[in-house]
Amino acid sequence: MNKWNKWNKWGQIRLFLRDLALLAMGFLGPEKPGMLEQLGVELDGRGNVIADPKTWMTSVKGVFTAGDMQRGQSLIVWAIAEGRSAAAGVDAYLMGSSDLPSPV
Ligand SMILES: Cc1cc2nc3c(=O)[nH]c(=O)nc-3n(C[C@H](O)[C@H](O)[C@H](O)COP(=O)(O)OP(=O)(O)OC[C@H]3O[C@@H](n4cnc5c(N)ncnc54)[C@H](O)[C@@H]3O)c2cc1C
Repeated sequence: MNKWNKWNKWGQIRLFLRDLALLAMGFLGPEKPGMLEQLGVELDGRGNVIADPKTWMTSVKGVFTAGDMQRGQSLIVWAIAEGRSAAAGVDAYLMGSSDLPSPV
């Protein structure tokens, strides 16, 4: 076993013998301090903003969400499609109905 493969395991903790460790943690959910906390929008168990699947409105009336903020880290195509659907949701909220496309 060379020094790069050497590790010990205690329960769920592994000890890696390194001089430097860079952790790429990825998407950890939307930032809570600031806008989200001030608005008080409801979050799911993963810390993403909950949206009504039909209207794209959050738990706060008149506040909408789409994309990574409510789906979690995903793909740009989802963000584009959900952004268009959320725009239709906003339009329907403001105008009473909407002719805008709602792809998802
Ligand atoms: C490194 C990396 C590589 C990726 N590669 C791919 C790929 O190859 N293919 C793919 O399909 N997807 C990829 N993705 C995922 C893709 O980028 C996201 O799914 C997509 O950008 C999500 O779009 P969004 O509009 O939901 O959020 P974002 O693109 O994150 O846009 C959110 C915007 O809101 C702004 N914002 C945040 N807080 C506030 C605030 N309080 N007030 C005003 N503005 C605010 C931010 O500055 C940002 O401009 C990648 C993501 C990362 C991080």
